[in-house]
Amino acid sequence: MYHDTRDASKRVSFRTAVMQGMDPATGGLYMPDEIPSLPKSFLSRNLVPSFRDIAFETAKPFVGDEIPEDELMAIIADAYPFTAPIAPIDPTTYVLELFHGPTCAFKDFGARFMARTMSYFNRSETDSLHILVATSGDTGSAVGSAFHGVPGIDVTILYPRGKISPLQEKQLSTFEGNVRALSVEGTFDDCQKLVKTAFTDEALRGRLRLSSANSINISRLLPQSFYYTYGALLIRDRGRYDNDIDSPSLIVTVPSGNFGNLTSGLIARKMGAPIRGFIAATNSNRTVPDWLAGGSYRARPSVSTLSNAMDVGAPSNWERMNALYSLDEARRLIAGYWLDDAGTMEAIRQCNDRTGYIIDPHGAVAWRAWDDIRSGAMAALLEGKVVPPLSSGLVGTAATAPEWARDCAEKKCVGLILETAHPSKFGETVREAIGREPSIPERLERVMNLPDRSQSMANDYAQFRDWLLANLG
Ligand SMILES: *Cc1c(COP(=O)(O)O)cnc(C)c1O
Repeated sequence: MYHDTRDASKRVSFRTAVMQGMDPATGGLYMPDEIPSLPKSFLSRNLVPSFRDIAFETAKPFVGDEIPEDELMAIIADAYPFTAPIAPIDPTTYVLELFHGPTCAFKDFGARFMARTMSYFNRSETDSLHILVATSGDTGSAVGSAFHGVPGIDVTILYPRGKISPLQEKQLSTFEGNVRALSVEGTFDDCQKLVKTAFTDEALRGRLRLSSANSINISRLLPQSFYYTYGALLIRDRGRYDNDIDSPSLIVTVPSGNFGNLTSGLIARKMGAPIRGFIAATNSNRTVPDWLAGGSYRARPSVSTLSNAMDVGAPSNWERMNALYSLDEARRLIAGYWLDDAGTMEAIRQCNDRTGYIIDPHGAVAWRAWDDIRSGAMAALLEGKVVPPLSSGLVGTAATAPEWARDCAEKKCVGLILETAHPSKFGETVREAIGREPSIPERLERVMNLPDRSQSMANDYAQFRDWLLANLG
């Protein structure tokens, strides 16, 4: 069973949690009542299980008897014709490449599982299901691509006009048929607010069956935990060939915006993935690092940066992190780090100079955070040298440092960087940093030549509602 983060007495099935997205009455998000453990025998197999086997074992307890095992396996096989390969870039640093799906971003992992799960649950319905999704960049294309052509379901994507890259815009505005795009005069937070308002509009819900597809949907969150477990087991398996640290602590660095990805990591760790801790790496939208360092949560308007898929000032999934862990517990696990645009450019360049790896601006934020923390920032923090609040870096004090801080200062950690997008999706930024453009996968090149079909929308709820009623239903 699942419960509402704002009213724990409201409990729903997996099906309801998936189909509703969030609780329309409270605006709360759904969380599983219990995070089950993966069997020890499964986690300690000599041969690392395949990505699909990990996906199946992880999903099974969350789905219960609501989807039969053979159907669940079919959903997973259909969702993941690709996996998440690991690239070692130095003896203690690995990159988990999450861009091998159709839209070249990590959101394919969540969106494809969600689309197939919803389609399974929607089989018995007669009315269409309308999915509303606000995107700051990559969500829209991943969700559009995942649902494109799925019968009985249509998708409306809202994105902030002029605030996403031209390629990202092409990727979400060129669908035909059941996937539409609205370019909104406003920020990502405005788009998200329009969607949230629609969900709490009872009159509208009486006329349209609405659902969400943002990372607030539990069926997008759960599958993102698959690759944490997969990556952690692969590193445990091969680590001894790469370095001579005895039982290193694995620290996963997550480039974060709305904090769905990091929340999925927390779930994987609770289930038994061999992960010691996390680094929450953000751009100048530093709401969560500031919460970890200062103890008070202050949502704020988002600011535009080079890593624009992380431009979120009021991250929805903070509510879930808070449901999983108290502030003190979160501090023991997670270090907070933020990086401005100048630092991001420099990180893309240095990562390439030092390792030969071409990393995108989101991954670059994570790489810099890990590299900085392992090579002195954490040791300095423990010695009482505090980062001044106005410059980028590790935030907090010795008192708020995670419990793995000492391991890190003593060089007993290895790092896993989540690379959330293919660098060619941010080709211009990468070219400016390293002097050449990364090669473009064919699946991206194709979409560049399709006509834009998006429609304009004011940042105005009444207009948005009228559009929905005129165009859907
Ligand atoms: C969405 C996105 C992120 C942020 O993920 P959250 O789950 O929102 O924290 C990071 N990088 C890329 C490329 C993204 O598309």
